[in-house]
Amino acid sequence: MTIRSVEAFPLSLPFDIGGPKPIFAGKTREMEMLLIRVETEDGLVGWGESFGFSIWPATVQVIERLVSPLAVGRDESKIDELILEISRKLHPLGRAGAVIFAISGLDIALWDIQAQRQHLSLANYLSKDPKKTIPAYASLIRYNNPDLVAKNAAAAVSKGFKAIKLHETGVAEIKAAREAIGPDIHLMVDTNCPWTPEQAIQMCQQLEPLNLLWIEEPVWPPEDHIGLATVKREGNIPTAAGENALGYTDLKSLITHQVVDYLQPSVTKIGGVSEMLKIMGLSKNTTIQIAPHSPYMGPGLIATAHLIAAQAEDIFLEYTFCQMDLNPLGKSVLTEDGCFPISNEPGLGLAVDMNIVQQLLVS
Ligand SMILES: [Mg+2]
Repeated sequence: MTIRSVEAFPLSLPFDIGGPKPIFAGKTREMEMLLIRVETEDGLVGWGESFGFSIWPATVQVIERLVSPLAVGRDESKIDELILEISRKLHPLGRAGAVIFAISGLDIALWDIQAQRQHLSLANYLSKDPKKTIPAYASLIRYNNPDLVAKNAAAAVSKGFKAIKLHETGVAEIKAAREAIGPDIHLMVDTNCPWTPEQAIQMCQQLEPLNLLWIEEPVWPPEDHIGLATVKREGNIPTAAGENALGYTDLKSLITHQVVDYLQPSVTKIGGVSEMLKIMGLSKNTTIQIAPHSPYMGPGLIATAHLIAAQAEDIFLEYTFCQMDLNPLGKSVLTEDGCFPISNEPGLGLAVDMNIVQQLLVS
């Protein structure tokens, strides 16, 4: 069968984080979701997601002007062939950013369709014996306020999460979280690339007593692999990175050179399910653990959950901790007692409410 259409739907979801929302890229943080809808000539619909955040207007343009014309009319079952051809044709426009985000959304939707054709969930299409539920960690948005960090970390534990990740750089905030959740809950800290390697090592010394599971992206710039490796070697806290990797080759280098302890490929940023499978395969039989990046609330989150469910190892799903009252994907993006249930419905198992899509559409 062939692809009839590829459409992009940028949405802004209402959400509450239990405190003031931080500033991101010069404006108050929003929950932007870029849904990708692919329909085949026989009327089957697959859903994907491209990394939303503030970049979605550029990605919509890439989908509509470049990706859609290259995909429409092509055999949707030949995912490798189509994605490789589009990637090769568009490579001069950037191997990271909007082009790859757009390709990621298409790829996820094609895998959704592929699994639907087999009448299997994506997890079951990838593995004969997928997990039925997987543990999630609560990924808290940045508060820059020890009291709010403590309050929301405790709230996440009360909802059943056994692991909490902060987006903070201050020792006071991180200490407040550890005191609020006690010693038995895993605590991770995502710093979003603030420091030189030397500064990061000093911070690790201060944070060491707080028993962190990992410290994430401690070094600027994110592609400074030598700096990251130095922090891993001398920082005495396990390290994590990979969400800003420049494609498969960059992630492969992080694995080959053992630059981090936890590798964080992002399905909506790195090229979709296809690239995630390659990276997950490469990491097998190494000391590096996969900890996917998935702070989104659409098909990308669900695809990540199915990818995790298909692995033998126990892997945490990153789950943005917030109150969300309206999402066109309904209950399929909700956790239960700190875990994420894996739907047994065909593909990603999505029933997208187009009325809510129209309601939340942004332009
Ligand atoms: Mg991160």
